[in-house]
Amino acid sequence: MPRIESDCIFCKIVAGQIPATVVYRNEHVMAFRDVNPTAPTHVLIIPIEHIPSLSHLSPTDETIAGHILLAARTVAEITGVLESGYRLVFNNGPDALQSVGHIHAHLIGGKSMGWPPFPGASVHHG
Ligand code: 5GP
Ligand code: ZN
Repeated sequence: MPRIESDCIFCKIVAGQIPATVVYRNEHVMAFRDVNPTAPTHVLIIPIEHIPSLSHLSPTDETIAGHILLAARTVAEITGVLESGYRLVFNNGPDALQSVGHIHAHLIGGKSMGWPPFPGASVHHG
């Protein structure tokens, strides 16, 4: 049985209950434009199934995990950033400010970016 969470906004987007600008979809993953883009290209790539975060991936999710990365490459081509460059970001858990509990890769491009992606980069290793 596919995993679905009725309270999840991304599951609702998968089900068509919340509209989204879909860039790409196959049986495993879906990609749609972020409603609050941080760059000219800002697309979210999600598994069709509800998996709350990367920390919830298990070895049986190998196919889904692979499809997320393959979709990133496809989305980069569709949105025209394959050559200019793009960044793939998974915010995972509280420190990373994950705000939606359904795995999503942010594919960001179309502008020159800085690194590291947060102010005050620390030299401490934790
Ligand atoms: P997070 O902060 O969890 O890494 O990223 C969640 C992302 O989902 C945010 O960039 C936010 O703009 C986006 N988002 C939240 N709700 C919606 C929605 O209903 N539709 C779309 N297209 N994006 C959403
Ligand atoms: Zn979900």
